[in-house]
Amino acid sequence: MDLEDIAHALGATVIRETPSGRRWGSYCHHTRTIRLHPDLVALQRDYVLAHELGHHYYGHTGCDPRWEWEADVYAATMLIKRDEWSRATRIHERVEAVAVELSVLPKVVRIYYTHPKEARNVRQQEGYAGYYSRCE
Ligand SMILES: [Zn+2]
Repeated sequence: MDLEDIAHALGATVIRETPSGRRWGSYCHHTRTIRLHPDLVALQRDYVLAHELGHHYYGHTGCDPRWEWEADVYAATMLIKRDEWSRATRIHERVEAVAVELSVLPKVVRIYYTHPKEARNVRQQEGYAGYYSRCE
């Protein structure tokens, strides 16, 4: 299942439209809409979509540094499977090399590497059991 299918299954609408400011994407909780900048390449798009899905999942309604962190950890666990992480980090030591191996942005590797415990906790919520209780 690709990320757009997951977004749809979770009740979010994904549109390609330049967000305000210089952002790559945005999420409006009021309309459950994820905006993706139309010029993103695949790795950027995957990261932004997974990040905005994190905002959707948690029901974030504004801008707060902690929410950005939560959305980033959510994104990292969406984009990196634990067994693939284990294999990639056995083969490579550099963040960039791990990123290439996993087909993610280096930023995603840094997030996953910095917060592995939290990342695993978010992954344990797969099935999105907590989602509906967070939204009206
Ligand atoms: Zn964000």
